[in-house]
Amino acid sequence: MSEEVFMREALIEAQKAYDKDEVPVGAVIVYNGKIIARAHNLVETKQDPTAHAEMLCMAEAASFLGNWRLLHATLYCTLEPCIMCAGAMISSRLPFLVWGAPDVRQGAHGSWVNILDASHPIHRVSCSSGVCAEESSYLMKRFFKEKRRDPCLTKS
Ligand SMILES: [Zn+2]
Repeated sequence: MSEEVFMREALIEAQKAYDKDEVPVGAVIVYNGKIIARAHNLVETKQDPTAHAEMLCMAEAASFLGNWRLLHATLYCTLEPCIMCAGAMISSRLPFLVWGAPDVRQGAHGSWVNILDASHPIHRVSCSSGVCAEESSYLMKRFFKEKRRDPCLTKS
């Protein structure tokens, strides 16, 4: 199943984040059956709260396409997107999103709030979820167990 093939590539990105002591989230963007952008979370490295995997990946894809509208693209992300990333997906007219594990703290597709299924005057992102969820959540759990005790207590 191609969704899994591409999600495995996003998981490779998540592992790169893990290896940098970043919260392990990865993303890839597929266009015409090919990966045109890949990124992982770099919030700590860049000390930038917007440096989520999806944001970096969308910027890279827009640069590749020479167009901020990510029409006909599919974004694969190992974790349910947050409200910032979901907002950027709507703004970029991204048609398809596939995400892996739910994010109970920040998830914007139902785990916390549901921005992506809310009616929007101009755009709707079609979502599918739970792809390679176990691998993604295993990586997250291992990260918070081994590297950080509690995500709510870090760097605050
Ligand atoms: Zn995000």
